[in-house]
Amino acid sequence: MKKYCVLLICINVLCALVLTFQAYAGTGIWDTASGGTLPPSDSEYEEGGSSQDEVYLPDENEKRRVAITFDDGPNASWTPKLLEGLKDRGVKASFFVIGEKAQANPNIIKQMYEEGHIIGNHTYSHVQLTRLSKEAVNEEITKTSKVIQEITGQDPLYVRPPFGSWDEEYENSIPMIPVMWTVDTLDWKSKNVDSIVNRALKGTKDNSIILLHDNYGTSVEGAFRIIDELQKKGYEFVTVEELLLE
Ligand SMILES: [Zn+2]
Repeated sequence: MKKYCVLLICINVLCALVLTFQAYAGTGIWDTASGGTLPPSDSEYEEGGSSQDEVYLPDENEKRRVAITFDDGPNASWTPKLLEGLKDRGVKASFFVIGEKAQANPNIIKQMYEEGHIIGNHTYSHVQLTRLSKEAVNEEITKTSKVIQEITGQDPLYVRPPFGSWDEEYENSIPMIPVMWTVDTLDWKSKNVDSIVNRALKGTKDNSIILLHDNYGTSVEGAFRIIDELQKKGYEFVTVEELLLE
């Protein structure tokens, strides 16, 4: 009789344990215990082919910014097409224009300005500044700024020296901020859309400055693909001013 009672108690305890486990499983407590760390169901990440091994970093994705910049324009054929595509995509770019080309295409400069792009100085005749006298350097820069000022009513604040050739001493007499780049697409060299896009996507990270030239059709087509791809990855396109000042 005593043995029978002990057996009965054991069976009862086992039943209670099984029932308790079922109750927890039924409420889903086990399923959601790690719910806070699981990625939300987001089509962007699923479509991107992300595997479970990849780390989900929503904050980084939201904050990534990039500036797209165009040198050597404006170009009467390609710059208007570029401006149209930038407008369609809601992107503000930064243009470093050549003074003599700006003078020949004032309407394009005006449109750039009115559409909120940054217009920077890329010298008057695209010369390597470090090969010039101090006076000639000043003339190349001030002549270009004057052209831009006469069209837009605003003096440009940013300068990009051709070939990246700059001497900090210039800043004593030229009150401008030099802006270089961090991602060189070599668009002028390859004139190949795939190569331009691949170089840009491979090199871009948060706060990158991409260098392109708006005087080639391949560069304009490449720019649109770069923008579309990086926007899909969560990048926000800003001007160099926004990137440098914020
Ligand atoms: Zn240039």
